[in-house]
Amino acid sequence: MDALIALCKRRGFIFHSSEIYGGVNGFFDYGPLGVEMRKNIKDAWWRDMVHRREDMVGLDCSIIMHPNVWKASGHVEGFSDPMVDCKVSKNRYRADQLFWGAVIVDGETIGYVSMLESEKMQALADADADKLKRKAQKQGTLAPVVLKDYTEASPDLYEKIPSPSTGQPGSLTPPRDFNLMFETHIGALRDESSVAYLRPETAQGIFANFKNVIDTTRVKLPFGIAQIGKAFRNEITPRNYIFRSREFEQMEIEYFIAPDADWKGLHRKWLDTCIAWLVSIGIPANRISEYAHPKEKLAFYSQGTTDLMFEFPFGVQELWGVACRGDYDLKQHATHSGKALDYFDEASKSKFLPHVIEPSLGVDRTFLALLTSAYQEEPITDEKGNTEIRTVLHLHPRIAPYKAAVFPLVKNKPEIVAKARELHAKLQRRWNVFYDESAAIGKRYRRQDEIGTPFGITVDFETIEKDNCVTIRDRDTLAQIRIPISEVSAWLDEKIDG
Ligand code: ATP
Repeated sequence: MDALIALCKRRGFIFHSSEIYGGVNGFFDYGPLGVEMRKNIKDAWWRDMVHRREDMVGLDCSIIMHPNVWKASGHVEGFSDPMVDCKVSKNRYRADQLFWGAVIVDGETIGYVSMLESEKMQALADADADKLKRKAQKQGTLAPVVLKDYTEASPDLYEKIPSPSTGQPGSLTPPRDFNLMFETHIGALRDESSVAYLRPETAQGIFANFKNVIDTTRVKLPFGIAQIGKAFRNEITPRNYIFRSREFEQMEIEYFIAPDADWKGLHRKWLDTCIAWLVSIGIPANRISEYAHPKEKLAFYSQGTTDLMFEFPFGVQELWGVACRGDYDLKQHATHSGKALDYFDEASKSKFLPHVIEPSLGVDRTFLALLTSAYQEEPITDEKGNTEIRTVLHLHPRIAPYKAAVFPLVKNKPEIVAKARELHAKLQRRWNVFYDESAAIGKRYRRQDEIGTPFGITVDFETIEKDNCVTIRDRDTLAQIRIPISEVSAWLDEKIDG
């Protein structure tokens, strides 16, 4: 992760927000390359999920909505995480990410250990337990520590579990609910009546517009409404770079189905569609897994939720949630707004509230999954037999910030430069293409490898003197082919979108 984060800053993918003021935790800015890559992710998703399907339409709702939307959806009441404070260090933790366990020697509890959730926490807990045993000068057999999260601690243990920041017990508060919605005010008055929220998800805007969409389009069940947009959550512990931030972007679909439809089959179909899409943009299938939420942990209205998990460098974590929400949301909005949100089914001449399947994906998590899949440091040997380590992003051409780079072999031959400039201008009409004439060609390739540009196109002496062809070098295989300049556009098109 460290090398990747350094690359992202060095080459202008991601910066910490407000860096010159010391940064603000949980917020990020996307630099000149980052903004291109984000746009490519969103464009690919929109094209594949909306434009290439006949059962999907799009929507773009406002970020601030009527506050009753969030009362109806349950967010005002229940969109919270359990929080715990350390009174000494003033650090704040999410209680379900703070783990603890009793240290038991020969059946006797001699103390407790605690740590933040991580892949290594079991090993850390056992090592800490061993230290505690030695400090207490206990003989006997140490039992493996059984880890639980802080929400599972009984109240008599709050005083006994050490704070992860001080290592000492007595400073952790009981867990309490913390609502994750950012509050703001509408208009000049600042009182209870003007309170509004920055949306914590884009989904509710889709439900609130359900009637508008069915009244203005000719959609027929089953159909989906898609939206891409910013969402805000005042996360207690933003962490793991852009994985969990306080401002992020979502790509969400509400896929409406008849109440008696085979929701299990359609849920499975959506999971397969989502996995296939991730693989199509360059995420390796063997790093994706499924996590079906156990029944007892589901919200009361939920029929089933399966998360698509990705093997991030910091552990296997949720990338894409696919939830079956029944008719809960439409019913809630119909009740709170007093407006009928029924769908009229022509075939059966009946009215009903459709059920919904909700695939919900984060742009930023997809960005991170793509970068961690693409990043590689690998040895390459040049024509002279010198081996060096090159840093390369093996990004899919659809996702790469630049689709190609055009190089004149030398910069002091006006005909070569003019030809390269002409080709660059032509390609730029359709794609983001880089032009570079400075430094040796090998160095120029390396600079593009590091930012994931899939193709290097070189105009050389032969181009102008002999064949009007260019050399295209493939970033991944390093293979070079020579094709006529007139065919470059069609060739690139096939590679990027074919
Ligand atoms: P988590 O359990 O990780 O907090 P969640 O289950 O609350 O996630 P959802 O409400 O299902 O997440 O949101 C849908 C998607 O939005 C997630 O799968 C993820 O890709 C993205 N997402 C949610 N919260 C964040 C965040 N704080 N930062 C970046 N992306 C997020």
